[in-house]
Amino acid sequence: MTSKSPRDPGTSAVEVRRSARRSRTVSAYREGDRTVVLIPARMSEAEERRWVGVMLDKLAAKESRSVLGDRELTERARRLSDQYFDGRARPGSVRWVTNQNTRWGSCTPSEGSIRLSHRLQGMPEYVVDYVLLHELAHLLVPGHGPRFWRLLEAYPRTERARGYLEGVAAVDRLPNLSDRPEDAREE
Ligand SMILES: [Zn+2]
Repeated sequence: MTSKSPRDPGTSAVEVRRSARRSRTVSAYREGDRTVVLIPARMSEAEERRWVGVMLDKLAAKESRSVLGDRELTERARRLSDQYFDGRARPGSVRWVTNQNTRWGSCTPSEGSIRLSHRLQGMPEYVVDYVLLHELAHLLVPGHGPRFWRLLEAYPRTERARGYLEGVAAVDRLPNLSDRPEDAREE
């Protein structure tokens, strides 16, 4: 049986498949432009509607966490610059790179380009925002001197995000946390 999602009419088709083998579990996945929701055969119509809603929300949340496109990333960096640096840092482009395993982010101030390690994908939003702000700040101040950290004080989750990344790095036993080899060491 196929029905349209009630909250997104006309765009995403939802196919509900009932399975006699399922007793309790509900799961959902994308299949092309459709969303398939698997439910136990004996579920009522009302339960079905409720679970379809829950699973669509879950999928959407997972997808928005996982990967912003490069264009969305650039827009996000511009919004962060507006919000915390009065728009003074002007990123030309922001993109994900997969060849950056010991640095979370890097930037080329002369081009205004920022690169983020794909390893940040799936990390909490506030952590990605911190790395974006860190690189945006480097468009204004090179190195990690007091002026640099004063800029980042505007972002209330700087300490928390740094702690998160240090924890991840410790687990991965990364050689260092400095995002640019020519930079002074942090701390
Ligand atoms: Zn840095």
